[in-house]
Amino acid sequence: MRVSTGRANQSDSRMFNVVVEGFGIGQQRQAERVFTVPFSQLQSTIQTIARQGGVITGVFAIDGSSGNGADPMPAPAAETAAAGDAPTPAAAPAVTKAPAHATVPVNTYKPKTPFLGTVTENYSLVGEGAIGRVNHITFDLAGGDPQLEYVEGQSIGIIPEGTDANGKPHKLRLYSIASTRHGDNMATHTVSLCVRQLEYEQDGETIKGVCSTYLCDIEPAAKVKITGPVGKEMLLPDDEEANVIMLATGTGIAPMRAYLRRMFEPAERDKNGWHFRGKAWLFMGVPKTPNLLYDADFEHYLKQYPDNFRYTKAISREQQNAKGGRMYIQDRVLEHADEIFTLIEDPKTHVYMCGLKGMEPGIDEAMTAAAAAKGLDWSELRPALKKAGRWHVETY
Ligand code: NAP
Repeated sequence: MRVSTGRANQSDSRMFNVVVEGFGIGQQRQAERVFTVPFSQLQSTIQTIARQGGVITGVFAIDGSSGNGADPMPAPAAETAAAGDAPTPAAAPAVTKAPAHATVPVNTYKPKTPFLGTVTENYSLVGEGAIGRVNHITFDLAGGDPQLEYVEGQSIGIIPEGTDANGKPHKLRLYSIASTRHGDNMATHTVSLCVRQLEYEQDGETIKGVCSTYLCDIEPAAKVKITGPVGKEMLLPDDEEANVIMLATGTGIAPMRAYLRRMFEPAERDKNGWHFRGKAWLFMGVPKTPNLLYDADFEHYLKQYPDNFRYTKAISREQQNAKGGRMYIQDRVLEHADEIFTLIEDPKTHVYMCGLKGMEPGIDEAMTAAAAAKGLDWSELRPALKKAGRWHVETY
């Protein structure tokens, strides 16, 4: 394994992250851990981890420690041996971090050479009387060389068929992935999206979104150009005891649906070896009850895991906030400010926000008021949470 590159030798003060799977003692073996060590201890730490039966999946320099960036180095093959001394990492992570980015796939398929996926299903997610169309669409990714793999919280690109007004091929559109890495059928080669057909009025004309209409209308067996995966902003922490607060509007539920399946779907728990034991709290905003997405699944998780899951809905056109206006998720955040802040004070808590960009100021306002009630300053707290990798936002 290359751990001592010329570049690394240039500066012994550089710090490295060593990403390890299956390392730990007895029952406490963890799916993945990251040890931060100075260059001088890198070689000995790697040897000790290998002696302990850990599988090193990545070693990379930490951004900023030398100004050289953080190119991942190839991981060594698994080595196992009799137990020896525990490694002595210089500094274990102080907070529950998102997965080590070195192991997350990105850009396996680029726009010039997309993967051709096959639609396996396309069905409506909304009920009678809903506003607009929102569909769940699944693509078969089998046979890719390389295989298109992804993790929860990433996005894929779709290039719609046809050409634009200038006769040029359409550009790709990004969609958050709504399935777990195993796919809805657990066969590990499908990906699902949650897509609202975009519709708006312009000069008295109804305009429909090119890609969202293409996807909502697509039939099973159709071939679709897929790129990616992309994105490392919305990854889940590895810690099974993390707390996860989710703030979603409309189709912004896509990544949350993947997280919740990973946490609570029995087949997922069996397969992923990750047994979530923390608290997950979903705030979901939609205009009307029939617009609630994946609601039956979430209600089911609520029954199965009442101690681990909370589900709070803001149905804007049916419920009113305290001021008599439309009920938005920030109004729900304000109602539960005390509990949310108690959770946020726990370093194991991560917050994920996905959906309409317009909700960001409202959420900030609610958090400012909630923080102030606890004698805290949100304008200082939010950057600190972001820096700690605990505040994740993907809004459009
Ligand atoms: P939707 O079903 O129309 O629901 C959006 C909800 O948010 C409605 O209840 C709406 O209320 C409410 N809302 C409006 N303004 C708000 C504000 N300032 N603060 C808080 N809530 C507000 O949603 P949608 O059409 O699916 O839109 C979701 C957004 O997420 C889109 O912009 C989409 O691009 C984005 N997104 C999609 C994905 C994806 O992969 N599909 C991923 C990330 C983000 P009223 O309409 O009643 O006022």
